[in-house]
Amino acid sequence: MSDAVREAVERLLPGVEQPSRYVGCEWNAIDRRATAQPYRAVLAYPDVYDVGMANQAIQILYAMLNALEGVACERVFVPWKDMADALRSAGVALYALESFDPVNEFDLVGITLPHELAYTNVLELLDLAGIPLHAEDRSDAHPLVVGGGPCAYNPEPLAPFFDAVLVGDGEVAAVEIVQTHRRCKQAHMTRRETLAELAKIQGVYVPSLGQHRVLRRAVADLDAHRSPACPVVPYTDVVHDRVAVEVLRGCARGCRFCQAGTIYRPVRERRPDSIVRDAMAALRCTGYDEVSLTSLSTADHSAFVEVLGRLGRRLQGTDISISVPSLRADALTPDVARLLGKAKRTGLTIAPEAGTQRLRDVINKNITEDGLLDTVARAFASGWRRVKLYFMIGLPTETDDDVAGIGELVGRVLAAARDAVPANERGSVRVGVSVSTFVPKPHTPFQWEAQPPLEEVHRRQELLRERMPRKGVELSYHDAEASFVEAVLACGGREVAAAVEAAWRRGARFDAWTEQFSLDRWRAAFEESGLDASAIANRPRDPFEPLPWSHISSGVSTAYLRAERERAFAGQTTPDCTFAGCTGCGVCGALGVSNVIAGGVRV
Ligand code: SF4
Repeated sequence: MSDAVREAVERLLPGVEQPSRYVGCEWNAIDRRATAQPYRAVLAYPDVYDVGMANQAIQILYAMLNALEGVACERVFVPWKDMADALRSAGVALYALESFDPVNEFDLVGITLPHELAYTNVLELLDLAGIPLHAEDRSDAHPLVVGGGPCAYNPEPLAPFFDAVLVGDGEVAAVEIVQTHRRCKQAHMTRRETLAELAKIQGVYVPSLGQHRVLRRAVADLDAHRSPACPVVPYTDVVHDRVAVEVLRGCARGCRFCQAGTIYRPVRERRPDSIVRDAMAALRCTGYDEVSLTSLSTADHSAFVEVLGRLGRRLQGTDISISVPSLRADALTPDVARLLGKAKRTGLTIAPEAGTQRLRDVINKNITEDGLLDTVARAFASGWRRVKLYFMIGLPTETDDDVAGIGELVGRVLAAARDAVPANERGSVRVGVSVSTFVPKPHTPFQWEAQPPLEEVHRRQELLRERMPRKGVELSYHDAEASFVEAVLACGGREVAAAVEAAWRRGARFDAWTEQFSLDRWRAAFEESGLDASAIANRPRDPFEPLPWSHISSGVSTAYLRAERERAFAGQTTPDCTFAGCTGCGVCGALGVSNVIAGGVRV
């Protein structure tokens, strides 16, 4: 352990908010420093500790890399501004939580890229660590900086800052990256030679080698990789403070705005035995009183009722509850309602996304109004008193009628909820409505579409506010200004990197935190770097023009995305391929994977 760093940090802690973010040594943290001459990796999440520790990829990769012979893996998060200032003025470089050793002394820094508004935090992290921001300025002595996660699918806006970017599931490729890098170091290869070796790994993009073609990596069988049996338990409150077990990866429902729906295809379910085994092991090892079954759409698991039933029986007589973070409208069958009725009612969330059936067909959101009202009635009859509904405005083809339709639909949901509860409890019925702005995302059928200009988004928000029932409804908007910047960062090319750097130099940090975000700062950064941001976010693209991410393949064919776009505008829906047979997206053939349906009841 770096005692000098630790002592310096201890002197800073009394002056900062939430010192527990910076001390490490948590329950189940893994200390591999006794390993002889280990290869040292540090996993970084570009947000504060309390947000980053909820990220499952960090926990999965941390357990996996530490299980490798000769490898020691630690964690680091972005310090909040007070701590960042304190570190800078004390001249202390950012350190990893297990050893307090400076991050720039590690062999590899792996940074998860969860969303675009974390980009300035990536630069903050590198700068605090004393690692040159630009890959071209790094010497052989600097760590290899590798990115990964959902934003790796358009790596260009961050390309100058990364030595390599991993596109796809980390389980297999992260091990290959570590082993290849280790071999290259042992052979005393130069940084350039090492990068050329890394580029040979499927899924690895090396920006300095030009825009070479990269095909995503995908794990064929999730059960081959256990969910962490002993996750790290933070000493401080974190977002989602509980055991999380991923029950399936992927979602083949095919919502046309949804990037996750493309980049995690196909559906790979864990078997019920593994889910129950891993949940029980992690509960025993952590002492948590809640287990969350996670995925893009947990109730889609073909053996969901069996899993809930078996876990419920194992947990009977304990205080441990089961939670399902997001439930699809048609998934709350009487069986599920009964089984979840025993669990903690952490709130029912449903995402109809659009207010009219026409627009729901355009986006391929296969939720009907009757289905939604039935679900709400069932949920409220079996004890729920709150439901949260997610909508989006600015979707392609949206009209004022669609916007007004959101308000009308919410009114009917409220009425259905009130009707389902005893008269004396009607006052406690609450409908939360959260409205975000459409952001065109790479690798989706809507990747060619424009986000409406900001003034138009504001006009539609106002229209919706007028049409929304007041009593019993809590309406919140996701910041439209932040969604505009998100669209620029999501759809831009390498030219956007200069603007990210300019924004960071002007003080942009934690842009996903509403109170920290400043559109003026970003506007100044766009101007300084000569970027026409509206031409990126608010311009429709020709479906045959080259896109900044055209060299990155998710395995889903562009022809399929174009066909889906055509079907959207024709109001035609496309079924889920796990129910209705292959719809021809191409990913299974391209990646040598296929839908894994553990319960065996779906197609
Ligand atoms: S290739 Fe066919 S079966 Fe495989 S994910 Fe795509 S649509 Fe589904």
